[in-house]
Amino acid sequence: MEAFYNSLRSGTELSLQSIQDIALSAWATNNLDACAAAEPDKFGQFGDLAGAVLMLQDYYQSQYLIDKHNWKVVAVEEGFGLKKEVFIGETPRVVVYWVGRPDLVVSENERLTPVDHKTVSRVDGFTTSRYKPSTQMPGYVHSCEVIAKSLGFSVRVDRCVVNICSRARPSDNPRSGKRRPRFIRAYPNFTREEIDEWRRDVVNKCERIAHCLRTNEWNWSETSCHNFYMRPCDYLKLHSATPSARDVILAADFAEGRPWKPYEPTKEVED
Ligand code: SF4
Repeated sequence: MEAFYNSLRSGTELSLQSIQDIALSAWATNNLDACAAAEPDKFGQFGDLAGAVLMLQDYYQSQYLIDKHNWKVVAVEEGFGLKKEVFIGETPRVVVYWVGRPDLVVSENERLTPVDHKTVSRVDGFTTSRYKPSTQMPGYVHSCEVIAKSLGFSVRVDRCVVNICSRARPSDNPRSGKRRPRFIRAYPNFTREEIDEWRRDVVNKCERIAHCLRTNEWNWSETSCHNFYMRPCDYLKLHSATPSARDVILAADFAEGRPWKPYEPTKEVED
């Protein structure tokens, strides 16, 4: 998608050959051969590399050609927030700024809109309603408006587009007789009142995190241990053991990772 919309931004025409090249290059850079080996069922459903090429060709025909006429691309995968551009709120104990990297920001009929690409196993009747309530979507909406205003544009941003793609190609002859779409878009919108509520909620969550950090007391969420985003939690083995055994398990089975950074801020150019 990044390559598609970078082409749109630069005005470069996409040919069928370039779409195939995009698929091949994305497959290699994201090391999807290794992912396919790790999750053969998911990738089998997707159709492996040939499936990736087919998906992009389908996307080009059904979505991109329309976007080409309706969207003006403002940003592709550009991060924001590490320089404290987007203030969310504060209490006597925490000051909260939002950080993110939307997949895409477009202008459609002068309306500034963040776009997030999502893949799902299949599109069903509930697919488009899954993005509200959400933390991510109001974050993009609010941040886009704050950043646009800081650049001197007086715009109201009140919705985002969730650009959803089904991994599996829908059957041409479904039992229901109604062919499901492979690509579908959701348009969650947020009033000012909802954005204000979201900001308060984010600040409250940060208060709770700050409390845990200060006291080193962490609430367990036992309802998630066996079903953390549809799979067992990575810390299940650790927390299933007795407290005195955990240091040994930590040393043997876990390695300390680097803190996640959503993007690298650009360096200031000095005169
Ligand atoms: S196993 Fe995971 S979900 Fe369960 S308490 Fe530990 S960290 Fe939380």
